[in-house]
Amino acid sequence: MSTDLTTLVLPDGELVTEPPVLAEYRLNPYTQETAAEGQPIAVVFATSVADVQTTLQFATTHHIPVVTQGARTSIANGAAGLDGSILLNLSRLNHIVALQPENQTAVVEAGVLNGDLDQAAREVGYFYAPDPGSKPISTIGGNIATNAGGMASLKYGTTRENVLGLKVVLADGRLLELGGATFKNNASYDLTDLFIGSEGTLGVVVEATVRLRPIPFGDTVTGLATFADVHALTHAVQVLQASGVNPSMLEVLNRVSIEALDEYEGIDLGGRGEQALLIFQLDVAVAGALDLVDDLLRKAGAQTIDVTSDPARTATIIKIRQDIFAAGAQYGRLIVEDIAVPLGQLAIVADRAEAIAAKHGQRLLLLGHAGDGNLHPDIILESKDGALPAETQAYIDELLPFVISIGGTVSAEHGIGTIKKKWVPQQLSPAVQTLQQQIKAVFDPTGILNPGRKF
Ligand SMILES: Cc1cc2nc3c(=O)[nH]c(=O)nc-3n(C[C@H](O)[C@H](O)[C@H](O)COP(=O)(O)OP(=O)(O)OC[C@H]3O[C@@H](n4cnc5c(N)ncnc54)[C@H](O)[C@@H]3O)c2cc1C
Repeated sequence: MSTDLTTLVLPDGELVTEPPVLAEYRLNPYTQETAAEGQPIAVVFATSVADVQTTLQFATTHHIPVVTQGARTSIANGAAGLDGSILLNLSRLNHIVALQPENQTAVVEAGVLNGDLDQAAREVGYFYAPDPGSKPISTIGGNIATNAGGMASLKYGTTRENVLGLKVVLADGRLLELGGATFKNNASYDLTDLFIGSEGTLGVVVEATVRLRPIPFGDTVTGLATFADVHALTHAVQVLQASGVNPSMLEVLNRVSIEALDEYEGIDLGGRGEQALLIFQLDVAVAGALDLVDDLLRKAGAQTIDVTSDPARTATIIKIRQDIFAAGAQYGRLIVEDIAVPLGQLAIVADRAEAIAAKHGQRLLLLGHAGDGNLHPDIILESKDGALPAETQAYIDELLPFVISIGGTVSAEHGIGTIKKKWVPQQLSPAVQTLQQQIKAVFDPTGILNPGRKF
C-alpha cells in the first residue's frame, strides 16, 4: 500500500517524489561494492530545523524508515535508499551560522561542506582540521555521523576531537542541544560523543559547534620519501612517530597506488620504479626538525627525499593524495577496505595484506594514514559493477578476521554502513552488541532511523 504523503507539509520544493530524483538520490555513487539499495518513496530537501522535525514526526507516526543524507559520499553505502524510506537530505541546510575566533569555534548547519568551513575559517586566521579525502565534497553532518578521519587526524584527531556541541533532532521530533562551546565539559554522560560516528541511527544532526585551530606559525614543510617496500616505509613511520617532531601527516602509497596516480594525473611519481611512497608533513617546522626528519628517514632506509615549503606545490601534493580513490577506480572500480591496527602491527598487517592479495590474484592498491595505523588495502577490479568475484571476496574474508585477531578494527573512519555489517559480530562481543541495540532503542524506540545499518 502506498504511503499518503499529503499530510507531510513542508515548504514548496522540499518534498520530491519524482522517480528520476528518487533514482538518483537512493544511490551512494562512491560505494563501489555491490550493495542492495531499496526504493525510497520521497526525498526531503530540508532547509530548516523545523523541516527536519516535521519530517521525523511524520515518519514516526507512519512508521516510515528515514535515511539521513549529507552529500552521499559514503563509501560504506550508509546513506543509500531503503525500501519505503524517506531520504532526509540535509545538503541545503548549509549555512555557516557563526565564526567565533574569540572562542576558536564555529557554529555550522549540518549541510555545510567541510572545505567551505575550512576556507571561511582561514579567512579569519584559523582552520578546520579534519580533512577526509572528500573534504571539498562532504558535509560536516556526514563527517560527524561517520566520525570522518583524514590525513590531519594524526595531529589533530578525527572529527570526534573537533566537535564540541551538537543540535540533534530525535526520531520523535524533539530537538536536543548537547555539549556546548567549551573545550572541556564533564557535566554528564557525553551524549555529544555518542552521536559522533552513529551513522544516522540515533538522531539527525542539524547543527554543530566545532573547534577551529589557529593557522600554524611559520612554514609548513611537506615531503615525499621513497622506500624499497611498504614494510620499510612502515618502519620509518614508527621512527618518525617516536622522534617527537609531531608530524601532521604520514601517508603511505604502494607501487600500484603510485602507478595509478601517475596514469590518472599524468605525472611521474614512479618513473624510476619507486615501490613505496611516504607523504609527510610538518605544519610547525621548528628549527632543526627538518634536518632531524631527513636524518631519521635516511637511516630508516629512505631512497629519495624531496621536501617543499612552496604552498602551490604543497597543494598539488595534497590534491594528488586526495585523488587516489578516483585514480584506483579509473580501471573499473575500487573495493575499499578501511582497517586500523595498533601502530606496532602496521608492518605485519601491510605484509599480510600483500600476501593475501597475491594468494588470491588481487591487484592491491595499498594506501592510508600510516601514522594512525589506518590502512586502505583496496582491490582494483576491472568490472564496473556486479557481484564481487569469488577471489576478491576470499581476500576480504581472509584479511579482516586477521585484522580483528591482532586487535584491529574493520572500520577505522568510513563507518559500517551496510558494507561492513557482517564483520561487526566478529569484532564486538555479544554483550556489547546487545548494549548497542539497547542504546539505539532509547533514542529511536520505533527503529525508523537508518534501520539495518551499523549493526
Ligand atoms: C573521494 C573520497 C575520499 C574520501 N576520503 C575519506 C577520508 O579520507 N576519510 C574518511 O573518513 N572518509 C572519507 N571518505 C568517505 C566519506 O566522504 C565520509 O564518510 C564522509 O564523512 C561522508 O559525508 P557525507 O556528507 O557525504 O555523508 P553521507 O555519505 O551522505 O552519509 C554518511 C552517513 O552519515 C549519515 N548522515 C549524514 N548526514 C547526517 C546528519 N546530518 N545527521 C545524522 N546522520 C547523518 C548517513 O545516514 C550515513 O550513514 C571519502 C569519500 C570519497 C568519495
